[in-house]
Amino acid sequence: MRTETEHTIFLKDYAPTPYFIDRVEMEVEIAPEKSVIHSLLHVVPREGTEPGTPLVLDGDELLLNSVAIDGAPLGLLAYEATPSSLIIHEPPLRRFVLETTVTIEPEKNTRLMGFYRSNGTWCTQCEPEGFRRITYYLDRPDNLATFNVTMIADKKLAPVLLANGNPVGQGDFEDGKHFAVWEDPHPKPSYLFAMVAGDLGSIHDSFTTSSGKQVALAIYCEHGKEDRCLYAMDALKRSMAWDERRFGLEYDLDVFNIVAVSDFNFGAMENKGLNIFNDRLVFAIPETATDADYDNVERVIAHEYFHNWTGDRVTCRDWFQLCLKEGLTVYRDQEFSSDERSRPVKRIEDVRLLRSAQFVEDAGPLAHPPRPDHYREINNFYTTTVYEKGAEVVRMLATMLGEAGFRKGMDLYFERHDGQAATIEDFIAAFADANQVNLDQFIHWYLQAGTPQVTVSDSYDAASQTYRLTLEQKTDPTPGQPEKQAMLIPVKFGLIGPNGSPMSWSKVSGAEVKGDLIMFDTGKAELTFEGIANRPVPSLFREFSAPIKLTTSLSAEDQLFLARHDSDPFNRWQALQTVATGILLDAVKAGGRLTDEGRVDALATALGETLEGNSGDAAFKALTLAMPTEDNIAQAIGTDVDPQAIHDARSALRKAISNRLHDKLLAVYNALADQGPFSTAQAATQGRSLRNACLTQLVAGGTEGAYSLAEAHYRTATNMTDRMAALAALVHANAPVAQALLGDFRTLYTADPLVLDKWLSLSAQVPDEATLDRVKAILADPSFPRNNPNRLRSLVGSFANANPVQFARPDGSGFRFVTEFVADVDKRNPQVAARVLTAFRIWRNYEPVRRAEAESALKSLAESGSLSRNTADILGRTLA
Ligand code: ZN
Repeated sequence: MRTETEHTIFLKDYAPTPYFIDRVEMEVEIAPEKSVIHSLLHVVPREGTEPGTPLVLDGDELLLNSVAIDGAPLGLLAYEATPSSLIIHEPPLRRFVLETTVTIEPEKNTRLMGFYRSNGTWCTQCEPEGFRRITYYLDRPDNLATFNVTMIADKKLAPVLLANGNPVGQGDFEDGKHFAVWEDPHPKPSYLFAMVAGDLGSIHDSFTTSSGKQVALAIYCEHGKEDRCLYAMDALKRSMAWDERRFGLEYDLDVFNIVAVSDFNFGAMENKGLNIFNDRLVFAIPETATDADYDNVERVIAHEYFHNWTGDRVTCRDWFQLCLKEGLTVYRDQEFSSDERSRPVKRIEDVRLLRSAQFVEDAGPLAHPPRPDHYREINNFYTTTVYEKGAEVVRMLATMLGEAGFRKGMDLYFERHDGQAATIEDFIAAFADANQVNLDQFIHWYLQAGTPQVTVSDSYDAASQTYRLTLEQKTDPTPGQPEKQAMLIPVKFGLIGPNGSPMSWSKVSGAEVKGDLIMFDTGKAELTFEGIANRPVPSLFREFSAPIKLTTSLSAEDQLFLARHDSDPFNRWQALQTVATGILLDAVKAGGRLTDEGRVDALATALGETLEGNSGDAAFKALTLAMPTEDNIAQAIGTDVDPQAIHDARSALRKAISNRLHDKLLAVYNALADQGPFSTAQAATQGRSLRNACLTQLVAGGTEGAYSLAEAHYRTATNMTDRMAALAALVHANAPVAQALLGDFRTLYTADPLVLDKWLSLSAQVPDEATLDRVKAILADPSFPRNNPNRLRSLVGSFANANPVQFARPDGSGFRFVTEFVADVDKRNPQVAARVLTAFRIWRNYEPVRRAEAESALKSLAESGSLSRNTADILGRTLA
């Protein structure tokens, strides 16, 4: 395998730079084809820097035109410039101004890193190392500087000129050009730099902070799509108010701008005062966005806004600390969504995502700790482990310290580190110090990869009225970490008596128990509860209080008891899932057939009671109806996985449940028919979610009647949520009518790229032999936008990640299609290529035939020629 330079960066090698830059003045002349960047960097030698120490700046694909110090051009021998660095051999040992001019070509930038053009609009993406593609710089997060940016462009092509901070000047030139000046008074690292230039529409609003400061808010987008930004604006204002209420954090500039662009490598970016978004996370109107899309818009708008404090005001010392800002900010956006909507529903959804993405990552060749200690390519560490597991770790802190204790820790963190680049150790220390607790053991959550497995057994002794609960923890080896330390695991729990009510105890020993939390911090703990009058059923890990895999000795009967009686909604949902998983694992063993009708009956009865009962809101009921995914089952099986048997087993269970609950499902479906005009109010979205879950479950029954019901639902839908729900149900059931409706859908929405993504994604998910050829044909169509990340991910990403049977075809053709795609896209956009390739992280878990096919596809990719560092890194680790 030939790769771009092999190099590994280690956390232990972190050292501050000998010089730092505290002020940047830039003049950017934007023009089609070429843009010229003129930079004045105010450089200061750090104390202790020896005379003659060179100043080394990062660059990437830059063409240097001139370089000067304090106005005097440098002689050729005084510096060395390559496209990837600029070295000043003997800079003065005092404050000086380094002046450079470089030329860049945004039009040719298909990597979408640095300064590039999307749909006519010039925009930037600098995290993590994109600023070096704009100008030579100390492109690392521990260099904080204030920025002043003057942008010059043709007024017709780019009437809108935006950068970070506050607008401080603007004007026209005679030649049809104009300029704008932006000053960002908050020192920031270069990854938060942003500029946008283009002909854009916009909506405007304002927010008054709690201390009375007026902030002008704006969202910019393609002309004609302004109305699609209104929901995002509403979400922004709610986010600003929430951060004041919950954390006492106010916004700190005169303006806050958001720009929606259509070519973007991931979700969105928290640039100071100028967030740039993938337009799919801004646009939301009922005709084109589903309720899930609305939730995502709200969540990501909040996430990027919350970064203003957790990321921008306090940033990361180095990229190993990425989860310092990401895990914490995901935790904050989760809390925001929970406060704005249903907390139990949000928790279940987040845990589903954690299990289907993060647990899989953590159990395979790409496993890494939330804070890794080495990397070859930092772009490959924007992972679900850093984000979602990072958030779980913060959540455990909040669980252990309580809301007030957590807030004290946050306050101290800001008091100590505002305006600084911090580390995970700084973060933990703030919580430990603010609450006078020792958190030394807790840091292992940041340092160790792998999902801890907790095994529980219990026994009850009637004579002595004692109940014993034994907990054991174990974390499997992960790459580079053969041995693991015991973690501090907070177990939120309750004991439930025979009549379904909570039981208390007179005394407990064997581990520290604080209220309803067991602090489980050893390999094994044996707890003894005294004064227990009857055999209790334990409810463990309520609210999923720690990101672990739980095995208990509870019978299906006990689980169904929990499903009926647990006061914790998460565990009521979990109990039903656990029973379903048990049935599914047995069915897979039997080659895809259900083996225990009695247990299926019992599960169906419990599901029916939940559906008709009044504990839990409508969206909660909808979640109980969704059986564990094929990926969940594959994960529970672990090795020698046959995706076809899993698919068959799951289909059989869904069909059986559907048949048993048919009348109830139909009754609820019909009762929720009259939805009135579209609204995003909680009651309305929850009603749609339950009604559509019933429809999906009916379709899983596979009857003609259900198919026509779904077709009618599709045809009469007045919003995208209902239309997509019916179409997705039919597609996943591979119903005969699905292809015709997919065709109809495509014709209806040809002009709307974001809706086309839904079509691409569903087309790739059809569980049918013919899907691979259809996907290939779509990709080969000359009109397919081959450089747009959203389109590529919707089609090929969905095929690789959401069609387990067709991706893992036993003849290997699904695997080969994906590796060939990766090799091709890698030439233009390494980040998209590397991300798609991660679908292979499960390859060693397949049964031998598929495993061999996957390995051979990966090996031919390795031999196919020169790969980017991004893709080579993922491939190397996947095959290791
Ligand atoms: Zn983030």
